[in-house]
Amino acid sequence: MDYEAKLNRLNEIIAEISDLNAAGALLGWDQQVNMPAGGAEGRGYTLGTLGRLAHERFVSAEVGTLLDELEPYAAGLDPDSDTARTIKVLRRNYTKETKVPSEMVVEFAQTTTMAHGVWAKARHENDFASFQPMLEKLVDLRRRYAELFAPYTHVYDPLLDDFEPGLKTADVKQIFEALRPQQVELIKAIAGQPQVDASFLYQHYDEQKQWDFGVEVLTKIGYDWNRSRQDRAAHPFTTNFGNWDVRITTRFDQNYVGSALFSTLHEGGHAMYELGVDSKYNRTALAGGASLAVHESQSRMWENLVGRSLPFWEHFYPRLQEYFPEQLGNVPLESFYKGINRVEPSLIRVEADEATYNLHIMLRLEIEIALMEGKLAVKDLPEYWNARMQEYLGLTPPNDAKGVLQDVHWSGGMIGYFSTYALGNLVSGQFWEKINQDIPDLSEQIRQGKFEGLRGWLVEKVHQHGSKYEPQEMVQRVTGSKIDPAPYMRYLQDKYRKIYGLA
Ligand code: ZN
Repeated sequence: MDYEAKLNRLNEIIAEISDLNAAGALLGWDQQVNMPAGGAEGRGYTLGTLGRLAHERFVSAEVGTLLDELEPYAAGLDPDSDTARTIKVLRRNYTKETKVPSEMVVEFAQTTTMAHGVWAKARHENDFASFQPMLEKLVDLRRRYAELFAPYTHVYDPLLDDFEPGLKTADVKQIFEALRPQQVELIKAIAGQPQVDASFLYQHYDEQKQWDFGVEVLTKIGYDWNRSRQDRAAHPFTTNFGNWDVRITTRFDQNYVGSALFSTLHEGGHAMYELGVDSKYNRTALAGGASLAVHESQSRMWENLVGRSLPFWEHFYPRLQEYFPEQLGNVPLESFYKGINRVEPSLIRVEADEATYNLHIMLRLEIEIALMEGKLAVKDLPEYWNARMQEYLGLTPPNDAKGVLQDVHWSGGMIGYFSTYALGNLVSGQFWEKINQDIPDLSEQIRQGKFEGLRGWLVEKVHQHGSKYEPQEMVQRVTGSKIDPAPYMRYLQDKYRKIYGLA
């Protein structure tokens, strides 16, 4: 076979794997949206089989041989060409997936399945000790996983790389160490000012009206209903099958209007990223977003930098008042804007506001790194957690359910995931500065309800490239520098200076 035939063969295999994964994703969506509770066991078998078929297809000797044979050819191509990038991405994934012995894959799957139940019970009963042995086992499993990729610079690197290709522990540490004191200082300054009122957000808001307003907003910002849909689910998420069909889910709280609204914008941001990927990448190794952090930069941008901005509400607030005249008819725009941006240190990450959110992440990252380094024992986690919460946010959890047990991630063995949330915030700040330089009248456009300029910029600079570039590369290409906390801090300081009247 000549190179072209080999490349075609490789792409054909990848397309088939992509089809298997799309079928699995659709079943996963169905599981959370439609499936009756009794269907869980059967669905587990089906998803397990699809996942196994996709995995076996990928780690086959044929894929290995094709990669070996195509690498010298790819080395002669432009390193930024789609083909060179495809080979690079596939080699990286192939090395990862073939290095892990199947016994470890099975052990990990069994342990996390069991750990989830143990964690849920421990959280419910506020009993860390019952989860401790499970978490010890998971930490040990993750350390053994990291060992497979030795030599590494840091034992946490291989875990981080699963979520943020190419990113190193040293990078993340450096970013967060620069960020932390500034965040702490900002929160202290805000705490010294009179609190803003947000009580009007917590009234009865009819669910159907919330749904209708959300659809109106999504339509206006450019959500393509021909290729997407929205459904209700207990936990909001986005899923997609290529860029042909991208779906979001939303959850509604009839006693708080902010819940569905901002989560719809958040998931809408994820969805618009996938919708904006160039169609030529469908069913290829370069489909989908660049990484979790870059994905999160898109969702957090629509949720916060756009969706909690004054220009956005100068446009949408009169409509929201029409939907809810009793609740908001007498609340001025200025008060509403301050209310949706209220800062209040809280114990729970998922409820945290923009100013405090990153500190929740830093705490988790420090713990994960210390656990992997063996400098922190699992049994000492609650004490460590509570001390850091006090230091960063001035709060001590009344119990472990509201502290170290609150998140599902560790029970799923997802060590290395958390930092992507905070990195996403930072990247959104970097993109936002650049967008505003490139589109000087962006605020005015948003005030008029015009989002084509913003969306066009995002598609051109970020979305269309799919996962062709690694996250640091992507940010560098778009903004001229790697991931950097300074723009996000400037954004926060400017925003809260006005809202809280800081000096
Ligand atoms: Zn998200």
